[in-house]
Amino acid sequence: MLGMSTMLARPCQGYDVIIANGKVIDGSGNAWFYADIAIEKNKIVAIGSLPVNSPAALRIDATGKVVAPGFIDVHTHVDDDILKQPLAENFIRNGVTTIVSGNCGGSELDVAGFFKRIRETGSAVNNATLVGHNSVLRKVKGPIAAKLSGDQLEQAKAIVDQSMRDGAVGFSTGLIYTPGKWSDTQEIIELATVCGKYGGIYATHMRSESTGIARAIDEAVAIARASKSRLQISHFKLPTDAAISLGRGTTLKAGSDATLAMVDAARAAGLEVWMDQYPYTASSTTLNQLLPDWVLENGPEAANKSLQDPAYRERVFEAMKQSHEIGRKRTDMSFAVIAASPFRNGKFNGRSIKQVTQLIKFEKSNPDAELIRTDKSPEISLPDVSMIEQYQVVIDIYLAGGGQGVFHSMDETEVVNILKHPLVGIASDSGMRVFGQGMPHPRGYGTNTRILGRYVRELKAITLEDAVRKMTSMPATAFRFEGRGLLRVGNVADITIFDPSTVSDRASFEDPHQYPVGISQVLVSGTVVFDGEKMTGAKPGQVLVGPGMK
Ligand SMILES: [Zn+2]
Repeated sequence: MLGMSTMLARPCQGYDVIIANGKVIDGSGNAWFYADIAIEKNKIVAIGSLPVNSPAALRIDATGKVVAPGFIDVHTHVDDDILKQPLAENFIRNGVTTIVSGNCGGSELDVAGFFKRIRETGSAVNNATLVGHNSVLRKVKGPIAAKLSGDQLEQAKAIVDQSMRDGAVGFSTGLIYTPGKWSDTQEIIELATVCGKYGGIYATHMRSESTGIARAIDEAVAIARASKSRLQISHFKLPTDAAISLGRGTTLKAGSDATLAMVDAARAAGLEVWMDQYPYTASSTTLNQLLPDWVLENGPEAANKSLQDPAYRERVFEAMKQSHEIGRKRTDMSFAVIAASPFRNGKFNGRSIKQVTQLIKFEKSNPDAELIRTDKSPEISLPDVSMIEQYQVVIDIYLAGGGQGVFHSMDETEVVNILKHPLVGIASDSGMRVFGQGMPHPRGYGTNTRILGRYVRELKAITLEDAVRKMTSMPATAFRFEGRGLLRVGNVADITIFDPSTVSDRASFEDPHQYPVGISQVLVSGTVVFDGEKMTGAKPGQVLVGPGMK
């Protein structure tokens, strides 16, 4: 398919775009090859050796660069933020040209209306969405633990059905979050079956990524199988406490071999299962996860009231002790960092629960403690704090409105081991970032470029071609995005050009608001949306609808 025969479509006035002299990594996993790529309107019309003087409205010299399909991020939490920030700068600057919203059980429920608004506003990236279990439950029964009544179940199924017919690509769960975590397996199967009927994918943040991980994988597989859905296991990981639960402590590495083998077994038994991963040793989720499950069972109002009661708080402390100290062998809460919380007007954002507890204790006993309000690393010796004092701060943060946390809980050996598995794709698990705002997990600014820089070039964990496959044709296949994810004549010209010798993430946990380097150009539907220095402002992104609408 290479060569002159692919160039017959050349009109006499020239192509719209030629990307010349690059090393093409086509997304299939095959080794790179030299070729020029010609684009007409939004499609690739030629891949091969074009005459040097071929006319084109725009000629991009990709000498020394890699030309790859635009990256596809199937696990984002962008949702309606795409309407506020239609340029999706933190994604585009990582080479991402397609995002999937609606993950971990949280989504828009009016999919048709959502897509209409995206089309009206325009978007630099292509957008798809899942329909989320928690959002559906909240709509039909509110934020409480009660099982769905027969009527409510029918309403919930109808919402999933309508969403699929309006173009959702599948159904998502977030089974550590309320109210979804109170649904039993059968209730989820009922809803996922509606997704399966239309050929959708079941994407799950499993019931446990911790000590219950093996049972959680079994449940995910059972739900996908019973509902006749494909399975996407979201942000696959093996935190240290999960490794311990599998009998693989901190000295015996690659405990993820055991969990990956479970996925392989499901495949061998005929289930189409895929995974995605973000390349970091810390996770990010709500700070509420530090509290016992049952605190929120009757909804947030009841929880706020109960937590005022000292006797109730004693029970919470005891459960937290069981979970953190006895179950997970923690001696303090320094692994948990506040990313963004209204607690004390956000002044502790970026600090660990242990540090916050120490600072509050210090402030109480020091009248001039106002000094430390703006000092990020105070030169003072902070007092010792007990676990109970740290648990109390977790409760105080919840009562002040909760927030997002970053949890340093993984070993890089496991990150690499999971990355090497052929069914693991790359996804950020990030929302839209507002540059400079809060202390978010750095993955929103660095996921794809971190794979290409740290894990391909520096650690040589996987090849460049395999990394590109994990960001392009693999997610395109799993989510059935036809005509994307591969550089082929006739496919949509979503293209990312980068310098393989310099491409790198720069965002860190301490300083997350930093764009990556080494991405040279990003094209969506044949239009340049990032020119290597800045966003062009173009909004050529399309809405990608799922199988229920096709
Ligand atoms: Zn999640």
